[in-house]
Amino acid sequence: MYDPKSAKAEEFICHDEVLATLDYAQKNKSNEQLIAQILEKAKERKGLDHREASVLLACDIKQKNDEIFTLAEQFKKDFYGNRIVLFAPLYLSNYCVNGCRYCPYHATNKTMPRKKLTLDEVKKEVIALQDMGHKRLAIEAGEDPVNNPIDYILDCIKTIYSIKHKNGAIRRVNVNIAATTVENYKKLAEAGIGTYILFQETYNKESYEYLHPTGPKHNYAYHTEAMDRAMEGGIDDVGLGVLFGLESYQYEFAALLMHAEHLEARFGVGPHTISFPRIKHAADIDPNAFLHGIDDDIFAKIIACTRISTPYTGMIISTRESQACRERVIHYGISQISGASRTSVGGYADAEREHDSEQFDVSDQRTLDEVVRWLMQMDYIPSFCTACYRAGRTGDRFMDLCKKMQILNCCHPNALLTLKEFLEDYASDETKKVGEALIKREIERVKSDKVKKMTEDYLSKISQGERDFRF
Ligand code: SAM
Repeated sequence: MYDPKSAKAEEFICHDEVLATLDYAQKNKSNEQLIAQILEKAKERKGLDHREASVLLACDIKQKNDEIFTLAEQFKKDFYGNRIVLFAPLYLSNYCVNGCRYCPYHATNKTMPRKKLTLDEVKKEVIALQDMGHKRLAIEAGEDPVNNPIDYILDCIKTIYSIKHKNGAIRRVNVNIAATTVENYKKLAEAGIGTYILFQETYNKESYEYLHPTGPKHNYAYHTEAMDRAMEGGIDDVGLGVLFGLESYQYEFAALLMHAEHLEARFGVGPHTISFPRIKHAADIDPNAFLHGIDDDIFAKIIACTRISTPYTGMIISTRESQACRERVIHYGISQISGASRTSVGGYADAEREHDSEQFDVSDQRTLDEVVRWLMQMDYIPSFCTACYRAGRTGDRFMDLCKKMQILNCCHPNALLTLKEFLEDYASDETKKVGEALIKREIERVKSDKVKKMTEDYLSKISQGERDFRF
C-alpha cells in the first residue's frame, strides 16, 4: 500500500503506485487540457507531485514541451540566479565487497588495482585540489567494513578539514559512502559533513536485486531507507540520485519524486540535492550492455521536469557528461557541477590520468580554470561558496531561505566573493580578465545599497590578501 509517510521502503516507493503513475502519464501524454493545468500549477512554484510531473515527462505536444523548458529556465534564474557551485569528488578507497554489475569496483573485478589512501596521501590529494582552487569536496569510497570502516572515513574528513595550504581550504566535505547505521550517520554529522549523498541506482526492487547480486548493498530496503536513517542521525542535507540507464527512466523519475515527497512528508524537508548520473564506460563495464540508456534529449527533459517539480532542490551534474551536454542542460536547472575531476584513488596527486583504476570515464576533462572561464563566458558566476552550511543554514532553514526566494540576496554576493578569491589565487591571466569584468557587471545587480557597499569593501580586502568573507 502506498504511504509517503511510512518508514518502509516498499510503502513509500510503492511499486504499484509507480506503475499506476506510468499508466496515468501514458494515457494523458496528449491531454492538452490536463497538461496546461499542470503547467499552471507549476507556475505557482510550490512543486508538482510525482503523477503530475510524470505526465509532463511523457507529454508529446511540442508546444507544451517548449513551455516546460522555458519554465525550467525561468525557475533556474529565479531561484538560483546565474550562479553555479563547483566541487570535486575525492576518491578515498576502491576496496569494495559489493557485486554491483555496473561498477568496476565490484569485488569480483580482479584486474582493478585496489588502493586506499593513507592519511598522508589524503593530504597530498587535498593540497592538489586546493591548488586548483577547490573549496568543496564530495568524498567517495567503496563499501568495505574491513578496509574502509567508518573510523577511516572520519579520520579522512578530519584530515581534509585540517589542511590549510597557502590560501587554500576545504570548507565543505560532502560524503558519498554506502548506506550505513543511524549511529554511523550521527558520527558523520558530528564530523561536520555537508550533504550525505547516496544514489539509489534504481528504485525498481527486482532490477535492484539483480544489479546488486552480492554484498550488503543487495538489501533493497536497507539501501532505500538510508536517507531516513541519515536524517534520524542528525544529517540535515541529503542528496538523492539514480544511475540513469539501469532501468526505465520513467520508472526512476516517478520513484525519485516519490522519495523526495517521502522525505518532505516524514521529516518536513525534501532532499538538498538531486544528482543526474548516467552510466558510463569503465574498466570492465560496457554501458551498452544495459538496455535503458537515455539520449541527450530525454536527459534534458528529465532535468527540466525535475527543476519545475522540485524548485528548491539543488541539481548536480558531473564530469560523466561532456562539455556539450553540460552546456545544454545547465540552463534547465543545474545548480552544481564538478570540475577537473579524477575518479581514480590518488588521481589528483598523479601527474597523468590513471585510466585502469578510474570509477568511470570522465567525459569533461578540462582543468578547473577552463571550466570556470567557460561558465563565465556563458554569463554564469562560478561559485565556491559554502556560507549556508557554515552559518548553520541547512535542512529546513536552507529550504526556508529558498522558499522565501531570499537565496539571491545573500548567495549572489557570496558567489562573487568566492570567485574573487579564485581569481586572485588560482586563475590564469585570461580567466582573471574575464572574471574581473564579470564581477564588475554583477556587482551592479546587488539590490541593497548596504550589501553592495559591503561586497565592494570585501572585494577590495580580498585583493589585498584577506580571505573568507561571507554574508
Ligand atoms: N560505495 C558507495 C555506494 O554504494 O553508494 C559510493 C558509490 S560510488 C563511489 C558513487 C556512484 O558512482 C555510485 O553510486 C554509482 O551510481 C556511480 N557509478 C558506479 N559505476 C558507474 C559507471 N560505470 N558509470 C557511471 N557512474 C557509476
